[in-house]
Amino acid sequence: MIKGLNWLSTFTDKKVNSVKHGGLCVACLSANAFNGLCQPCRDDLPVNRWHCRCCALPLAFPSSELLCGDCLKHPPPFDRSCIPWRYQYPLDGMIGRYKYNGQRKFGRPLISDFAGFLEKSLHHGGATRPEVLVPAPMDAKRRRQRGFNQAQDIAETIGAQLNIPVAPGLVQRVRQVRAQRELNREARLANLRGVFEVTSTVPERVAIVDDVVTTGATVRVLASVLRDAGAREIQVWALARTPG
Ligand SMILES: [Zn+2]
Ligand SMILES: [Zn+2]
Repeated sequence: MIKGLNWLSTFTDKKVNSVKHGGLCVACLSANAFNGLCQPCRDDLPVNRWHCRCCALPLAFPSSELLCGDCLKHPPPFDRSCIPWRYQYPLDGMIGRYKYNGQRKFGRPLISDFAGFLEKSLHHGGATRPEVLVPAPMDAKRRRQRGFNQAQDIAETIGAQLNIPVAPGLVQRVRQVRAQRELNREARLANLRGVFEVTSTVPERVAIVDDVVTTGATVRVLASVLRDAGAREIQVWALARTPG
């Protein structure tokens, strides 16, 4: 079981990040991990079981094909979200380590399970195969600070597994924005106006790839830009959804 990721010391971080101990669970260090997580830790991940088909917010009744009240009233510019988990403990800590501390080992089991989840969604879950994956673009300064764009990292891994090309430059950020973390959805939408620009032909079916969908403002703005440029069926593929 995952007891808390904070107890992992620098020493154990080194162990977890070394190739030699590739069989260890990144969360509890037990030796019988599969793709970086042992089964009890995998069972602890907060599955986003019943949710709105479009924005992926949890629903109080057993469906993942219906829309929530908000999406019925204000349909988002995308058609479906494929998001397996809720952004809650312990997954929030794993994603935080993966993207803020550059400990990519913490992202690998999630991304690998995510690819399996998407494969199932494409075969039986109502999702259609996009022609291209579009990672949510990160501004150049942040990318330099972080060393990588996690959305692109995720898109490249799942793209290779599902055999779908990735188009990292299809949408670009044309200006910097204030940090979004402190803003509500309306402020985020205003903050993001005119931020993205499409750089070449957009196919009809695309999936936007990101790590976490928080208010949905970024994916809404990205989807609008892609729709205006010709996309007709837009999905949002992300690891986790903030539940409310
Ligand atoms: Zn474990
Ligand atoms: Zn919704």
